[in-house]
Parts: sequence; structure tokens; C-alpha cells
Amino acid sequence: MEQRMRLDSQWSKVNNKWSIVLFFLIFPFLMSPSCKTKKQDTSTESTTAATITKPAFSADSAYKYIQQQVDFGARVPGTAAQQKCATYFEQKLKQFGATVYMQKTNVVVYNGKSVPCINVIGAINPEAKRRLLICTHWDARPFADQDDSATAKPILAADDGASGSAVLLEIARQLQQKNPEIGIDLIFLDVEDYGQPEYELNKKQGDFYCLGTQYWCKNPHVPNYKAENGILLDMVGAKGATFTIEGVSMQYAPTFNKQVWKYAAQLGWSNFFINDVTDQIIDDHYYINELAKIPTIDIIYRSYTTRSGFAPHWHTHDDNMSIIDKTTLQAVGETVMATIYDF
Ligand SMILES: [Zn+2]
Repeated sequence: MEQRMRLDSQWSKVNNKWSIVLFFLIFPFLMSPSCKTKKQDTSTESTTAATITKPAFSADSAYKYIQQQVDFGARVPGTAAQQKCATYFEQKLKQFGATVYMQKTNVVVYNGKSVPCINVIGAINPEAKRRLLICTHWDARPFADQDDSATAKPILAADDGASGSAVLLEIARQLQQKNPEIGIDLIFLDVEDYGQPEYELNKKQGDFYCLGTQYWCKNPHVPNYKAENGILLDMVGAKGATFTIEGVSMQYAPTFNKQVWKYAAQLGWSNFFINDVTDQIIDDHYYINELAKIPTIDIIYRSYTTRSGFAPHWHTHDDNMSIIDKTTLQAVGETVMATIYDF
């Protein structure tokens, strides 16, 4: 609650200062000294724990699933590409033996337009009581507002949308071959990235990111849905990605977050999963924590070198197949699979 109040005050501060470079998809909160002091939390964590059995995960397969999504074109809400890609997820999940829910609605975006929103849910072991939620957004941003040119054109979103979705599909394929003991819900969330572009920021303000998630939290695909923990994947396929421990994740699910980073370390992926707490981000997991009350972490590419704190290709036309790297996909896929089997 205290944190939420802090967020609100931070947000109104931002509203009042038009000169502040407002962020994103997601608005990372301005790094505050108090935020930085949180680092102590993980500095003592061991990253040299014994190795564990590498779970099966094919980055080649995940790469193909990204390519397939990108081939549909930009999966912008309200386009034919959106419809085709939703059907693709549905067919693949069914092929991999998941119980599929297609949650179709309309949501109103920042400019007052109503657009179709399709959340796709693939449930593995739907009858199991103990459940782990793994989610990603799959829509492509309709603008390239961080680019220098063609800013009003949608991005292909190979990383910011397609990468997480591809990892989820590959997880579904693997789980069909080695069934986990618990229930897994793979949730493909739509209309995450339709927040107003930076070049229109003098217009109406509001909480217009993560609309598919906000809808799902209020209207879960099964009544009284509950999962013990959640993992959000966002921008998990780019070359040289670094996943720091994100602030909201540490607020709501610190133990789980540390455990996942420990699996990454045990699998030899500490060069991707950095033991460093960084600022809070409003991403899909924020609403899942706040509204659905499921302690959920965010595995998201944070950069130490860019002004935005996000990847250099973030919300630009550089977010295409050329920045996708199979080693990154392998690191994320194996880490999530280890979490599933050891949960
Ligand atoms: Zn985005």
C-alpha cells in the first residue's frame, strides 16, 4: 500500500512535469536513492550453487516461433495480423495438448478508440490444484516513438512481444513430452503496448498500457483462478540481453525472484540474469500482483547504458529478427523450465 502511494505520487509528479522524458510501455519509476539501497537484498546471494540438470528447451524451435509471428506482420490490435496470430497460438497450443481458452473482448485505448483484445490461455494439467502462471504480452506496438524516423508506423516487435510468446510455445511443446507435476497456465496477453506515443504526450494521460492484462485480472479465464506464483517474460530474445532483478518483482515476490535467479546461476546463465535490483516498472506483472494478487516477477531486458533503461532497440524499427539471439532464448527457456520442474 505504501509502495502504491509512492507510485501514485511519483506518477503525479511526472504528470506535472512535461519536460520529463516520459517513458514507455511501461513507465520505469525514476530511480530514487531509496530504490537503489534495495540492492543489498541480493548482494549476499550465492551464484555459485551446485549445478542442476539442464531441462530440455530448443532455442531453434523458439526462434522459428518468433519468425512465424513476425511473418504475420505487426500484430497490432485491430489488424488482420492480430487475428491470424491469435489463431496461430490457439492451434499450436492445442497441438501441444494444452486446454485452450480464447478470451475475446474490446478495450478502449488512449485515444478513445475501441480495439479487439484477444488473450490466449493454454492450460497444462488444468485440474491440478498447485499452479504456476507464465505470461507474456504478444501484441506489437503501433508506433515506433523511440525511433528517429517512421515513428507513426508499427514495429515488428520480434523481441517486444514475439520473443516471450515464442518461449511460451516452446515450453508448451516441451511440457507435452515431459509432463510437470503441477498445473501450468501459459497466458498470451494482448494490448499491452498501445499506450500513447511520446510524440502525443501532451494529450490525455492515463493508464493505457497492459489493457489485456487489466481485463484478464478482472475477468480470469476460469472462475476464482489462482496460481501460487507468476513469471512474466518481456523482451527475452535479444542478443546481449541483461535481466536485472526488477523492483516491483522484489516488492511482491522477493523469495520467488531470488529462486528463479538461482536456477539461472546453477544453469550457467549468470551473464544474462544479473544479481542486481533495479527500478520498478509498471508492466503486466504489476497488475497481476495488484489486482489478481498472484506474486509475479518480471524477466525483462534492462540496460545500464541507454537513457530509457531499456534495450537500444526498444520501441524502434530495429526490433526485428536481426536482434534475436538463440543463446538468450536458451538462457531464458532453460531457466523457466527448471523453475517449472522444481516448483
Ligand atoms: Zn513495448
